[in-house]
Amino acid sequence: MSLLEVRDVSAAYPDGVEVLHKVNISVREGEIVTLIGANGAGKTTTLRAIMGLVRGSGSVKFAGQDILGRETPDIARLGISMVPEGRGVFPGLSVYDNLRVATTPWFGRGKSMAEDLDRVFGLFPILAERRKQLGWSLSGGQQQMLAIGRAIMARPKLMLLDEPSLGLAPNLVEEVFDKLKNINEQGVSILLVEQNAFMALEYSSLAYVIERGTVSQQMTSAALLQDESIKAAYLGG
Ligand code: ATP
Repeated sequence: MSLLEVRDVSAAYPDGVEVLHKVNISVREGEIVTLIGANGAGKTTTLRAIMGLVRGSGSVKFAGQDILGRETPDIARLGISMVPEGRGVFPGLSVYDNLRVATTPWFGRGKSMAEDLDRVFGLFPILAERRKQLGWSLSGGQQQMLAIGRAIMARPKLMLLDEPSLGLAPNLVEEVFDKLKNINEQGVSILLVEQNAFMALEYSSLAYVIERGTVSQQMTSAALLQDESIKAAYLGG
């Protein structure tokens, strides 16, 4: 069943230039889906449109509900979390507080965050060790883990990740992808934008190619890895 259905979504930034033109993307429950494309193709904007961070037209359905035009906190409450490019770690907050602020989608509904913290610390033990340290003082890889951990604290059904491997050492890239697989196996669907297309395609089942603001191709990740024109354009030959 489709968890996310993006249909004919066009979007423009406040300067008026349309950067997405009728984008169509589906993510089924339990799936990992990759968006690949050149710099400036519109991958980040697609994630931002889903999350309500840029205004768009068309239709976005999540778990059967129309979400296009809703406010971002409402979308988060329905079960979508975003890990933005650059991680967005809150500078003045400790690791613990960075995780705690993400509980707002369900805060006040009588739920406890102990279970969520256990889940995050289970995945990323380093965050438990560093829980009192300021978030921004962590290494790049640890900050990425914190950003992913923060997204999990919001109890998502779907996680949107923008370039999770950016700036990470190769051994950490694999670790981050292994954790994402682990999170996915716990029942969270994933929509991923990644420059490291080889790695993303290894871990995903379906992929979309975005060119100049629109989806130009859609195929299984395995097929895309074999596609000569795609390899030449996006996978370094
Ligand atoms: P990259 O890999 O470089 O991040 P991308 O595929 O994620 O590329 P987007 O960031 O979605 O691409 O950008 C799509 C287009 O929208 C680009 O032409 C970009 O210049 C433009 N754009 C992005 N952010 C804004 C903004 N805040 N205001 C105006 N235009 C923007």
